[in-house]
Amino acid sequence: MKTFLGLAICAAMASSSALAAGTFETDLLPTSAGDLRITFIGHASLMFQIGGKVIYNDPTGQYGDYGGLPKADLILVAHEHGDHFDPKMIPQLSTDKTKVVLTPLCPAKPDGSIVMKNGDEKTVDGIRIEAVPAYNLVQMRSPGVPFHPKGNGNGYIVTFGDKRVYIAGDTENIPEMKGLGRIDVAFLPMNLPYTMTPEMVADAARTLKPAILYPYHTGETDTAKIVALLKDEKGIEVRIRRMK
Ligand code: ZN
Ligand code: ZN
Repeated sequence: MKTFLGLAICAAMASSSALAAGTFETDLLPTSAGDLRITFIGHASLMFQIGGKVIYNDPTGQYGDYGGLPKADLILVAHEHGDHFDPKMIPQLSTDKTKVVLTPLCPAKPDGSIVMKNGDEKTVDGIRIEAVPAYNLVQMRSPGVPFHPKGNGNGYIVTFGDKRVYIAGDTENIPEMKGLGRIDVAFLPMNLPYTMTPEMVADAARTLKPAILYPYHTGETDTAKIVALLKDEKGIEVRIRRMK
């Protein structure tokens, strides 16, 4: 029972304006392994395409219409909450070769599941994946009980050619960010009460120094705030993309 109560705990309300395939924004980033195409589906749901491979992050049906989108080679799931782990969507996007990287607390393990916890590193289908901590320091569900306890959820650093892409998961600006090494592209969550304020995202960005920062998992947060906070950080390009 406890597990199911926890499922939707960090979800914003399902958007009634979920975008249909073909209307998503996309970016193209050059890497040493060819262009990386990023499709912004909604909330924490992203699609990466490179060299003929398709990688989804947190595909959930409530944040986008996946009709017309390609099947997955690899699916990454940050943690067990319903806005990240959708056990109905994973089979829809899977073939018999799809690998699904998820956490020990995900209450169902689809075919092809690979469980990773903080600190694990694996090469899956030729793609290097590092699972790193993602947790709350300040934001509490109840006194002493964080929305995201340390050790439960993952952020992922995914290496595409010469680029390291950090998809932070539901986290605050935790001290472990100092040890992540060079980050070229960072996706940082920015919604209360579950993740970070714009000020906390700005602090994380100054630590990580990504060339490109995409705020994601933004809920109702005004994304103009993070643009303003980082306007003098010349090395960080803040890109706001439509993700509702
Ligand atoms: Zn979340
Ligand atoms: Zn969560």
